[in-house]
Amino acid sequence: MKTEPKKTASPGPGKRSAKTHGKPGANRAGKPGAERVLSGLAAAPGIAIGTVYLARGAELRVPQYRVPARQTKAEFERYEKAIRQAMRQLDKLRGKAEAFHGASAEELGFLLEAHGQMLRSGRLREGVRRRIVEERCNAEQAVAAEIEAIAETFGSVEDDYLAARAEEVRQVGHRILRNLTARTFSGFGELPAGSVILAEEVTPADTALMDPHRVGGFASVLGGAEGHTAIMARSLGIPAVLGVTDLLAAAAEGGAVVLDGDRGLVILNPTKRRLESYRKRLSRQHAESRSLGRLRDLPGETLDGCRIGLQANLELPSEVGPALAAGAEGVGLLRTEFLFMNREDLPDEDEQTAILTTVIEGMAGRPVTVRTLDVGGEKLATALGAHLGESMNPALGLRAIRLSLRVPELLDAQLAAILRAGAAGPVRILLPMVSSVEEVRQVRAALQRVQARLHRRKVPIADPLPPLGAMIEIPGAALAADALIREVDFFAIGTNDLIMYTLAIDRGDERVANLYDPLHPAVLRLIHFAADAALRAGKPVSVCGEMAGDPRFAGLFVGWGIRELSMRAPAIGQVKRRLRAMDGAAASRLVANAMLESDRAAVARLLDAFEQHDGRRR
Ligand code: PEP
Ligand code: MG
Repeated sequence: MKTEPKKTASPGPGKRSAKTHGKPGANRAGKPGAERVLSGLAAAPGIAIGTVYLARGAELRVPQYRVPARQTKAEFERYEKAIRQAMRQLDKLRGKAEAFHGASAEELGFLLEAHGQMLRSGRLREGVRRRIVEERCNAEQAVAAEIEAIAETFGSVEDDYLAARAEEVRQVGHRILRNLTARTFSGFGELPAGSVILAEEVTPADTALMDPHRVGGFASVLGGAEGHTAIMARSLGIPAVLGVTDLLAAAAEGGAVVLDGDRGLVILNPTKRRLESYRKRLSRQHAESRSLGRLRDLPGETLDGCRIGLQANLELPSEVGPALAAGAEGVGLLRTEFLFMNREDLPDEDEQTAILTTVIEGMAGRPVTVRTLDVGGEKLATALGAHLGESMNPALGLRAIRLSLRVPELLDAQLAAILRAGAAGPVRILLPMVSSVEEVRQVRAALQRVQARLHRRKVPIADPLPPLGAMIEIPGAALAADALIREVDFFAIGTNDLIMYTLAIDRGDERVANLYDPLHPAVLRLIHFAADAALRAGKPVSVCGEMAGDPRFAGLFVGWGIRELSMRAPAIGQVKRRLRAMDGAAASRLVANAMLESDRAAVARLLDAFEQHDGRRR
């Protein structure tokens, strides 16, 4: 989570203002109790009623170590990279500020300008360089010490204006430290149960540390509804609202808040009436989930007997229990990124084997599809920083299978761990972001190499070798699906990235979220073409992108002949209920009509009519 610009806003050059502290429950004008409704993107469903927790810098741990003389240049380069990243972050926030009106826009504009100046300051740069090169401090330590030295020169005088400047210097320092450490906050364990976290940005690694029993929900200024932060929140069942422009300027620590993840609202200082209506909605939602729970052991089957396997997407091993409780028939997508997040070293083969074995044993004989590492883009892992490097277009850069093939020891360790864990139960291997048959062939060669090595070591492994599948999430892979299917044993269609790459919409950017469209005719044609290629080859095809967990789209998948859907566990009940009210033959007719339409609105109308028809039959 990146720290937020607090509300000690700069009044602009030459102006003086008193430092304003947030009082619990006070709004910006300091008046307690005035309700404010802020809107953003409905990123993860559910309602949280609780108190505001502003994520700030205090929780950040600053590592300290001595840098060898020959590495000081590289260490300073780390600092420069963190500064470049901070400048990009400010640019993004500036873009958001343009959407503000009047005083808010001006205030935030001044603040961001002041932060930008500090980032560019020669004194900071020189001080950090001296501490790294002469004192051989690591970059984090050098930044923390230099920032404190600068802040103290402001803070030593009894003056509200200067004290506010000192606070801003510390905020800038915190931003640099966050970028340097790419670390999450460690303070979530201390949160009072039911806290609603408000932050500038919440990363996927931050979300991985959230305990759904403690965190009521979270909201942030940045972030799109299809990014991995949102996906993880949905999987964990934590309500979330992202892309809330005015969030931090308006919120106060400890104030009452309602977070409505269904409608994308954050309501600060809710009125009594509002609270009452949300409490009623919450109890209706509990009743609904109890009723869905009763479907748990029933099959996902249409009225005319078309059986659809419903599996879970897992991001964390702790999700095995909730997946089974939701009735998952297996794991259709295990995102192994969690193994690499929130740590400074890489997990070795033994550690990976142990964790995968726990998941496979936990699923008790149900198949587990393990996807090899998909970091890069917005999913960062500190320990891989040196391999990932910087990229102008991270989503198009060295990520996923490209990274694994570039760093063979990474791929070999993962494949070995999957083969070894596969001795404990059925597994499948899934490759992310495949774009060509050559990539699959290279992985098959690596598999043989790893298998031979494990045989020599007489280590028990999956026998026969697990099926090897490709994610279809790049338009080129979908268009070449008939060639690709010859090289693999199954397809898993990743609609999240497929939509992003097809429509050129960054799934994590809230400013273009309205253009991210699962019903775009190009997306529908690509899914259809890829699914058809697998079916013609007689090989399994599943959908594991977020579309799979949306009951509105279930008719399309059934109609296309897809018989496996993998989704966040909390969605299984809803999709199952939809399938059990559906006529499979009618779904085929739906698809035939939908594929003739040229615009998304017409397809949406067909889906609505199809659903209403089933609704009448229920
Ligand atoms: C996808 O792209 O649809 C997918 C399932 O992978 P991820 O969301 O992890 O990128
Ligand atoms: Mg993907």
